[in-house]
Amino acid sequence: MSENDVVVIPPINITVCVKCNKIRMSGKWYSEFRDLEEDIAKSVKHKDLSQAKVSAKVNMDIENKNSTAEITVNTLIGDQLKELKYTVKINIKKDTCLTCSRIAGNYYTTILQIRFNDKEIQKLISEKVISEIIEIITALNERTDRPSANIHIVNEVHLKNGVDFYTDNLKYTQNIAIHLMKHKTAIEKKLSKSIVGIDKNGRDLIRSTICIHFGDKHK
Ligand SMILES: [Zn+2]
Repeated sequence: MSENDVVVIPPINITVCVKCNKIRMSGKWYSEFRDLEEDIAKSVKHKDLSQAKVSAKVNMDIENKNSTAEITVNTLIGDQLKELKYTVKINIKKDTCLTCSRIAGNYYTTILQIRFNDKEIQKLISEKVISEIIEIITALNERTDRPSANIHIVNEVHLKNGVDFYTDNLKYTQNIAIHLMKHKTAIEKKLSKSIVGIDKNGRDLIRSTICIHFGDKHK
């Protein structure tokens, strides 16, 4: 039996975002190269191989249309450790990912307004509050690679007394707001909604604004 008969490598079709270079394979977006390589390795089928271990290394060369994956299969043949190596071409399609198309189209559903009523308190906690928001968003997005289940900051506007974050996920923005309200200096949270148009299914297009005020409760 030749070595080729026992290892089957399915075609590797990936999409690359032309704006941020993020990669999609089988409907999943990858921010880490390592995760993509792991999934390519998992897609490799082998039979009758003893203790087979598959790994993949991706070499991207989009400009020259010469991207390849190096597949290595370490296995035991007879009582000898053997390394089987294959190089396969990666088929690449170019596209714009949901995040980038939303940013380009300035698409947002929610504005999170952070407002400081008090200059001293702003100086003290402004940076902390902003980094907390970014941390929560990163943690939420790490749970899944599905862009529709993620939250993105589409725009960030810095004002004298606060910041406006434009996001594409109301539910997650509300979660962030609930978290921020635990701050000792968080005074109040206001939610307002406005109809800004009609979506392509004929439903009202609603934008929500969540405003959180920070300040001295005793003033
Ligand atoms: Zn992108």
